[in-house]
Amino acid sequence: MSKRKVKDVCPYCGQHKNLSKEHVIPRTLFLVMDPKMVTVDVCEQCNREMSSNIRDLRNWIVLSLESVNHPDWESHLRKLFDTNEATRRWIEQTMDDAEEADYVTPGGIVTGSVLLTDNFNKEPARRALARIVRGLYLVTTKTALPLDCTVSVIEVPAEASRPLVEILNRLRRGKVESR
Ligand SMILES: [Zn+2]
Repeated sequence: MSKRKVKDVCPYCGQHKNLSKEHVIPRTLFLVMDPKMVTVDVCEQCNREMSSNIRDLRNWIVLSLESVNHPDWESHLRKLFDTNEATRRWIEQTMDDAEEADYVTPGGIVTGSVLLTDNFNKEPARRALARIVRGLYLVTTKTALPLDCTVSVIEVPAEASRPLVEILNRLRRGKVESR
């Protein structure tokens, strides 16, 4: 039985093609590159599809309220405004249409106001995240996740994310007991 060489099969679309290296976690999300960032070999078409989805993922992250505290946030926001006229117009229009609301901390203190909008199509960004999961699976297990195995991306509200991460970490260490 001959073993198929993983190098020739794109892990994202499963087709035999010429593959080139792509960073699993997109470079555009970082200001400073870590040379140890993991890569996977993917086909040119998947690479191209991925780059527009990644742009949407970056925009989603940059425009999310939780990102404001990140030290790189302002540089990313400036990049978003500077690189693309259409995006800049979209942001301006979205800000004009958005609903203003109080920003309330988890402790119940109003610390400012935020703009609420649902004028953002998150589907391309979700596709990028699903591919990142496939890439990480491949890097970790050295096997491509079967294409008929669906990867779903769900959005966890900020207030729920910390307890969720704690539970996941306990699960990973095998420390969750049955009740
Ligand atoms: Zn592909």
